[in-house]
Amino acid sequence: MSDILQVQQLRTRFKTDQGKVSVVDGVDFSIRQGETLGVVGESGCGKSMTSLSIMRLLPQNGSTEGKITFEGKDLLSLSEKDMQKIRGNEIAMIFQEPMTSLNPLHTVGRQIEEAVLLHRKVTKEEAKKRAIDMLKAVGMPRPEEIYGEYPHQLSGGMRQRVMIAMAMACDPKLIIADEPTTALDVTIQAQILELMQKLKEQTGTSIMLITHDLGVVAEMCDRVIVMYAGQVVEEAEINQLFESPKHPYTIGLMNSVPELDEEREYLETIPGSVPLAHQMPSGCRFAPRCSKAMPICSEKQPDLLDLGGQKCRCWLYAEVNE
Ligand code: SF4
Ligand code: MG
Repeated sequence: MSDILQVQQLRTRFKTDQGKVSVVDGVDFSIRQGETLGVVGESGCGKSMTSLSIMRLLPQNGSTEGKITFEGKDLLSLSEKDMQKIRGNEIAMIFQEPMTSLNPLHTVGRQIEEAVLLHRKVTKEEAKKRAIDMLKAVGMPRPEEIYGEYPHQLSGGMRQRVMIAMAMACDPKLIIADEPTTALDVTIQAQILELMQKLKEQTGTSIMLITHDLGVVAEMCDRVIVMYAGQVVEEAEINQLFESPKHPYTIGLMNSVPELDEEREYLETIPGSVPLAHQMPSGCRFAPRCSKAMPICSEKQPDLLDLGGQKCRCWLYAEVNE
């Protein structure tokens, strides 16, 4: 399978009162055609900033270095005009809270229609038909009626379906979904994930799925990268990750997932919190929270080591490469 997206040495910085800080710091990964890649980590680890860097939607004070190649095109060197042809068309995004990305003043039908009209040479009539077809495809009851309704008239789950309909309307080759089900209750969450999986199988689109939820990852993903403090700390095929997680951070995340069939009252959690971008520890960034930390860990930063397919940024595995 060939790569649809390649991210190389991505570095995203922000100008702040404390000076320039890196929120994404030398990130490498790729997404294969038709694959769902999970991007996992606590909030503040750079997952969303990575996706906004790919879409070139960073706030004004942000800047990006490195290389992002989408289907052979170098996204960081495209003009804004060419980027607009890709955004929402070849790469679409689905966000956590549809209320903030849907326009409250326009009907949902009109919003899907506009996405189609922006990128396709079709008549208004054809765009309307596409909008209704998409509402059907995402399992909306009474699609013709929903077409004329406003976002506030719909439930959270239905709004998320509208977002998916909008994202899929132009047949994107890649969908970046940032915590798409986090705001929904568990039953609706399962329905939305099932819908995304079904649409992916029908269309062959690739998905970059950002989540802090390893249950969602197990359900949806083919491969996973784990991010910590702006860096990739582990990369693995889904089975490898769950059978033999390597990085102490990944292992910590796994231990804090409640077993579905077990009522565990106390979940183990990782002590401490993700360091702030302007207060990165020297050496391994996870060292202040790591129960396996050794003297070298706070002195020198470990590289992302290739352990034979699975990759891990940790001194515990350094001898493997020597
Ligand atoms: Fe823990 Fe050291 Fe590995 Fe960092 S390098 S995760 S501190 S053992
Ligand atoms: Mg986020």
